[in-house]
Amino acid sequence: MIEQQAVTYAHKEAVRYNGTSITYEQLNEASNQLAALILSNGIQTGDSVGLLVDRSQNMLIALLAILKCGAAYIPLDPEYPKQRIIYMLENSGAKLVLTEKKYSGHFISHANELLLEDAIEKAKTFPASNPARNVTGADLAYIIYTSGSTGNPKGVMVEHHSIVNLLWYLRSTHEINERDRLLAITTISFDIAVLELFLPLICGALVVITDAKVSRDGFELLEIIQKEKINLMQATPVTWKIMLAAGWEDKIDLTIFCCGEALSIDLAMKLVQRCSSLYNYYGPTETTVYSTGTQIHLSDKIITIGKPLANTQVYILDEDLQLLPADTVGEVYIGGQGVARGYMNMPELTAERFINDTFSTGNDQKIFRTGDIGKWTGDGTIYLMGRADHQIKIRGFRIEPGEIEACLLTQPGIRDALVIAREDTPGNKSLVAYIICTTRSKDPAGNIQKWKRSLQHSMPDFMIPPEFVLMDSFPLLPNGKINRAALPKPEKRLHAGNGKIAEHDTSMEKLVTAIWAELLGIDDVGLDEDFFDLGGHSLIAVQIMTRLEKETGKRLPIAALFEASTIRKLSLFLEVGDVATLWESLVPVKASGHRPPLYIVHGDGLNVMVFNSVPKHMDAEQPVFGLQPRGLNGIDDPDESMEEIAANYVAGILKHNPEGPYFLAGYSFGGIVAFEMAKQLKAAGHEVKMLAMFDTSVGNINYTGSKAKRLWEKIMLQFPKMLFIGGSLFKYPGSVLSYQGFVVKRKWHTLMSKLGLAKESEEMPDYQKRIIEKQALAFQNYNMTPYDGTIDLFRVRERVYFLDDPIYLGWKNLSTKGISIHQVPGDHRTFLLPPYDKVFAQSLQSTIDERANDQ
Ligand code: AMP
Repeated sequence: MIEQQAVTYAHKEAVRYNGTSITYEQLNEASNQLAALILSNGIQTGDSVGLLVDRSQNMLIALLAILKCGAAYIPLDPEYPKQRIIYMLENSGAKLVLTEKKYSGHFISHANELLLEDAIEKAKTFPASNPARNVTGADLAYIIYTSGSTGNPKGVMVEHHSIVNLLWYLRSTHEINERDRLLAITTISFDIAVLELFLPLICGALVVITDAKVSRDGFELLEIIQKEKINLMQATPVTWKIMLAAGWEDKIDLTIFCCGEALSIDLAMKLVQRCSSLYNYYGPTETTVYSTGTQIHLSDKIITIGKPLANTQVYILDEDLQLLPADTVGEVYIGGQGVARGYMNMPELTAERFINDTFSTGNDQKIFRTGDIGKWTGDGTIYLMGRADHQIKIRGFRIEPGEIEACLLTQPGIRDALVIAREDTPGNKSLVAYIICTTRSKDPAGNIQKWKRSLQHSMPDFMIPPEFVLMDSFPLLPNGKINRAALPKPEKRLHAGNGKIAEHDTSMEKLVTAIWAELLGIDDVGLDEDFFDLGGHSLIAVQIMTRLEKETGKRLPIAALFEASTIRKLSLFLEVGDVATLWESLVPVKASGHRPPLYIVHGDGLNVMVFNSVPKHMDAEQPVFGLQPRGLNGIDDPDESMEEIAANYVAGILKHNPEGPYFLAGYSFGGIVAFEMAKQLKAAGHEVKMLAMFDTSVGNINYTGSKAKRLWEKIMLQFPKMLFIGGSLFKYPGSVLSYQGFVVKRKWHTLMSKLGLAKESEEMPDYQKRIIEKQALAFQNYNMTPYDGTIDLFRVRERVYFLDDPIYLGWKNLSTKGISIHQVPGDHRTFLLPPYDKVFAQSLQSTIDERANDQ
């Protein structure tokens, strides 16, 4: 059907994304060529191909190319955890995964990887004509994974005829034609994206694709609808609410398809008054996007899901699978063209949910048991009344609490787990996990944090319960089943210790705290607690930004909240007032003040949050910025060499502060980076006023020497090392034991990993390990030559691990102008924390003052 449009509307715009567009002919030819290339990679009709790309025109070219090969596509959302994506690739038996350079090598499975950018370029030499494949309506078009109650997601297999049936129905019912313009906002992992991308293309219409950031920003959505003259848009209720929260008042010439979740009468009435027509569409993934629908009018008193679409049958049955009359409540079953082939490689579950259709005359027909409860109304429409099982919909996302519970039950310390959705604040539905522990823990908040982290390894953010309630037992009904209605409302949040509550220093922090508290419904939000961990989501994000704009006159994009997701960071962004400074690696620790800023490079912990308390004890006019490594977002590749790492930070600093002079510092490993940065800045003719090391040791070992020589040096060091540990154990027993305990644990873990016996570390995600490995390598390969300037060495008093040069920490010969030593209280970790942070910050400030006056 799309190939036909490519003939009729060859030179008409087909797809627009981010200001660029391609015509029907270009789209068709590019996807033909890519299909030819994919086929040359051995893909055949009936195979499946993973697609893991960001939203763009290329995404659509790739989707069409896969379909043109006769293969089924498996949409993989790059924002999903690695483990889940790998499971989907393995479960589906995908032969190939089409991805982009930035995700290259991230998802190792048996599927071969093809990089889309290269493939599209290379495909230009392949034939542009439509491939002669014999694809029929019975072939698979896609496999979409949805939450599964047994612990793993399940892949719904949908055939071409089901999609054609739906699209053809919508095209004729809504008379969609080449003059229409549809806004496509949905991730391709959600089946409603099928409609957004392919419906306009079978009608000669224009599809405008938004990226993931715009899709969750109500302000931007309203803007793009106006700018692109969009007249047709599909979305789940939460998106419409986000747009209303962003101040949508005026009527727009827009046809709305609302779907994916129950449409409330209140929302429906607001929308009807602001658009040209509103439709409520219903259907599970297993019956291909929509199965029933109806138009909603201002006069409606209840919201129904309407009547079955073309070639679709709906049955409301009792427990014995007998038809029920109107007004009698039963379970909804769906038959007809939309019914999927079943769940990928899950025959038992398929047999349970896709049962024989005894009502139709066709052979081998199946009906799908939806789990929705409803009844026929007197006028032949269907009224839904809830679920027969525990499946939940939160902000359009379909969640099986059983999947979350199964994962929790594998965690140490959990005896029983139950997950439900609560709506204690009206309009704000969120997940709550009720946990019975095996033993009473001394650190419940720490445990909760661990459990959340382990969930994050296997499920997307919307499946992580923000609230955990620890219980001794679950309340029961007389029949012994759990009394879900009696589960208590989460009382007080158990903070995980990352955010010290209170001490909201600046007036901006106070303002942001008050707004967060009100909109999240929590009184005691800590400065460093993450918005999303607290149950924040895009609707609350829009509300926060609207309120902040009202109070401060400043409008930040919603994306700012995704990057600055704590009160402290968000307040800083508001203070800076310039979102252009949102450079990925440069994080404001304290942005305000008109003195030259101090830039501190992260330590081994990678994160710059450890510097948070330092500026509090410095001059009020002293801005402080942290530099954190590339790759911390889990996507970008970490830099390889010390020179590259430094060059990247220097570029960021120059963008932020092109004139200088520069005050640089580095904590631990970061000191070596700062050292190289200072050299690069000087070489480029900039003035570096201060280069400070925060307890950075480079040791006296010659890293460029032969392996045998280095081993000998290491052996010789063991004697003074033992003496040292013995001595310091006597002086600071607590700190030394804690540090040496940590070292032994880490060594044990490394040994076990090498033997293949270690459990994967939950503490540190793979991408962080990759950064640390690359940094260690960068240091080993770095050839250190002296720096032409003074080095200020902040050295801690309590030495809990051995150093071969405890005086200069190896820097003595690395400066032409000498080393200035500043002794500070605490150990390598604690000197940045209260109570030691004050002395350190004051000493740092006076060094800055002194260096500023140096000639
Ligand atoms: P999904 O497979 O993600 O499309 O989710 C399908 C489920 O979402 C259905 O079984 C319903 O429980 C719910 N659902 C979808 N659309 C609607 C609607 N218009 N009204 C009420 N519930 C809906």
